[in-house]
Amino acid sequence: MSDSNSEPSRTELDNLGEFKLIEHLASQFTQKQQSTLLGIGDDAAVLIPDANCNLLVTSDMLLEGVHFDLSYTPLKHLGYKAIAVNISDIAAMNGICTQVTVNIGLSNRFSLEAIDALYEGIQMACSHYQCDLVGGDTTSSVTGLIISVTALGYVGNDRLVKRSGAKHNDLICVSGDLGAAYLGLQVLEREKQVFLANSEMQPQLDQYEYIVSRQLKAEARTDVVTWFHEQGIVPTAMIDVSDGLASDLLHICKQSVVGARVYEDRLPIEAATKDAALEFNLNPGTVTLHGGEDYELLFTVDQKHHQSIENQQGISVIGHITDTGQGAELVTASEEIVPLEAQGWRHF
Ligand code: ADP
Ligand code: MG
Repeated sequence: MSDSNSEPSRTELDNLGEFKLIEHLASQFTQKQQSTLLGIGDDAAVLIPDANCNLLVTSDMLLEGVHFDLSYTPLKHLGYKAIAVNISDIAAMNGICTQVTVNIGLSNRFSLEAIDALYEGIQMACSHYQCDLVGGDTTSSVTGLIISVTALGYVGNDRLVKRSGAKHNDLICVSGDLGAAYLGLQVLEREKQVFLANSEMQPQLDQYEYIVSRQLKAEARTDVVTWFHEQGIVPTAMIDVSDGLASDLLHICKQSVVGARVYEDRLPIEAATKDAALEFNLNPGTVTLHGGEDYELLFTVDQKHHQSIENQQGISVIGHITDTGQGAELVTASEEIVPLEAQGWRHF
């Protein structure tokens, strides 16, 4: 859906060579973290560990055609998202990301200008989340674009939060709102089909700005981690909502060996998301439960933090942890109790 009237300049990667490309990309990054002793340019990066912290490591690989579609995903947004989703995993351990490495697989379909757009997004994310790009690998791929990011971070020994710590009677909470990213994807897919059927048709996205931006401009909730720190709150369990609330909550239940009760009418949803759900003949409740890629934080906390959580805008208490025997249950808007099942969408 690119503008066919303007002919952007195109520099072939072959003319540049791998070393020049890496040098060119690296020149746009500066280092901010004290723990980065040596970044890009040697055989390995050198980092200084912190004795009082646990080191966190996470990776995510994104494949063209499986995880993203370049016909409606701008490369700059993709670069940003590749970093943000990894930072979200570090945040879900209650940690702060300090360094990332980026591996890319490229075919000759991609020009230097395209890679620059991708790295502009990577650079924006590194700058926003204050982490250093300290290395990576660049290789050729037969057709599609591959981007794999590893993020390193730290968390104080006494503040580490796993999926396995939820206790009976803990509050179940979620940041932000849910379901928007999934519906944003539905809109983009629909407009793509319209465009494929008739290339004269330009995408109509104005009225879907919020949900489309939630799909294309993923953000990690590092602000919530900072807030926990300021409040002296350490959640008992936490996960980021990537597959969908139900599926991700079931991970907490399984790993903590507990049950859960969630109230459908407490699930946070924006009006724009609700409108789009109805337009797609989807139940808004189903979308908040099963839509993925919102990258909000789902966590459990001890009841003693009830007041601080209630007073905090942008955090919703959606239920509580129960005994294992009860399993995970949803109290529907019509007050029926039904089992909570994972329908998070899989890439397999
Ligand atoms: P090696 O052959 O030893 O793996 P490379 O030529 O692949 O070395 O990489 C040289 C330096 O550039 C290393 O510091 C590496 O981490 C970095 N690097 C390579 N590709 C990328 C990339 N896509 N993004 C960031 N750094 C990269
Ligand atoms: Mg290499």
